[in-house]
Amino acid sequence: MAERMLQFVRLNQQTPDKRAASVRKEDFDEIYQDFDPSRAEGQASRCSQCGVPFCQVNCPLANNIPDWLKLTAEGRLEEAYDVSSATNNMPEICGRICPQDRLCEGNCVIEKGFESVTIGAVERFVTDTAFDNGWVKPVRPLRELAQSVGIVGAGPAGLAAAEMLRKQGFQVHVYDRYDRVGGLLIYGIPGFKLEKDIVIRRWKLLEEGGVVFHLGADIGGALSFDDLRKQHDSVLIATGVYKARDIGGPGSGLAGIVPALDYLTASNRTNLGDTVAAYADGTLNAAGKNVVVIGGGDTAMDCVRTAIRQGATSVKCLYRRDKANMPGSMREVKNAEEEGVEFVWLSAPEAFHGEGRVSAVRAVRMHLGLPDASGRQSVEPIENGQFTIDADLVIKALGFDPEDLPTAFGETALKVSRWGTLSVDNKTFMTSLPGVFAAGDIVRGASLVVWAIRDGRDAAAQIAEYVRRNATASVAAE
Ligand code: FAD
Ligand code: SF4
Ligand code: SF4
Repeated sequence: MAERMLQFVRLNQQTPDKRAASVRKEDFDEIYQDFDPSRAEGQASRCSQCGVPFCQVNCPLANNIPDWLKLTAEGRLEEAYDVSSATNNMPEICGRICPQDRLCEGNCVIEKGFESVTIGAVERFVTDTAFDNGWVKPVRPLRELAQSVGIVGAGPAGLAAAEMLRKQGFQVHVYDRYDRVGGLLIYGIPGFKLEKDIVIRRWKLLEEGGVVFHLGADIGGALSFDDLRKQHDSVLIATGVYKARDIGGPGSGLAGIVPALDYLTASNRTNLGDTVAAYADGTLNAAGKNVVVIGGGDTAMDCVRTAIRQGATSVKCLYRRDKANMPGSMREVKNAEEEGVEFVWLSAPEAFHGEGRVSAVRAVRMHLGLPDASGRQSVEPIENGQFTIDADLVIKALGFDPEDLPTAFGETALKVSRWGTLSVDNKTFMTSLPGVFAAGDIVRGASLVVWAIRDGRDAAAQIAEYVRRNATASVAAE
């Protein structure tokens, strides 16, 4: 092993510098600064090049992490980029927004007592450097094929599949109901986690490589799914999950109680320069308001931090379990706390007060009970534990379910699971309709970007095989 590695014994873990909370809460720019090359090389050299790299085992893309860490430590950045991009269509995006503490870094086994290698930050550094030096090139297929594939959804699953299929020479058409490419990368996730020019750069690269985007194309609405199937040799559905889980109780219909994704989309669009009426008239704008966000996942964290940046008077996050049991990433909770968000743990809303418009939330204190069948501790309200919080804006961040696609697409033969996600053969990714495949959140339920990329890549391999097999069969039949 190169002398250069195994430096964890003398070099402490260092993440890229984080902008001070007082500064970063004034804008929507990313909060982490770039690694400088010497620090990135030093941090990569902390890797002990494990024989069985648990980091790689726990990366959904099985990225060859030890190899690109070693190349980075040796200053061979172009080769590091080649290795890292061989398994990941968007390493710079995963490096920024993967919950590394639960995936690669959380499973880094340097040695007890030493902190993990900063894998995500190095991955981001390598790909950003590759872009800066012009090493990232658009796809150039060796030959053009006549067959075409239609992809519904320009989120990470659809984009990863598009790139993999285009590489092989297929004619790739991506349809999205939005006016921009990226799915939740562009309109869901805020700029302070992922700046939008990073997403737009990928969009433009795919276009340069010959992927054709049809934006403002609502499949099942203006454009029928049946017509789409007739136009292409195969179709991939990668539409994500967008039906917001709702909250009931007295007063839940009052004005000023809004779904998280509407709120985040209005903020992202405004920051991209669009005029958003509901932002301008204050409906989806936290400025000068007492804000209460309900939920404990990553979407809730994005809402509280967005509200801080919009100039809310106060921002509280209401979550029915405690900090240790919340689903959101601890890194994001810490960032939110630093920025001035107040967490009200073990509390659930019971009712909303107000005359036409919400003015307060009545909540009740909860305690954790015995584990249920899934092993998770149940939560129970504490008797007489009611209290009230002032609120002019309440944001519901309780998760998402899939829309009813068989009905939306007019395809009753499209099979769904009991959770409403699309059922696919787990080896071929094909749905119950021949030649129609599915990938990403619409199959898994709300998940992660890195899993969407993995599914998009796997589905693309199956689609290519299916289309080729069909083409051979039709030539043989002639
Ligand atoms: P999506 O990204 O949802 O893309 C689906 C696309 O399909 C959209 O562009 C949509 O417009 C389009 N579409 C839907 N229906 C139609 C139709 N009928 N016709 C045409 N187009 C259609 N994951 C992480 O790993 N890290 C994070 O930090 C993180 N933060 C998140 C924050 C928020 C607020 C949210 C909501 C999610 C977050 N996630 C995060 C999860 C992650 O964004 C998703 O798992 C991922 O984007 C799923 O990718 P996808 O391609 O399956 O779907
Ligand atoms: Fe870690 Fe995500 Fe990169 Fe895999 S893709 S190495 S999980 S940051
Ligand atoms: Fe290197 Fe940690 Fe992966 Fe081992 S687990 S190869 S030390 S990054």
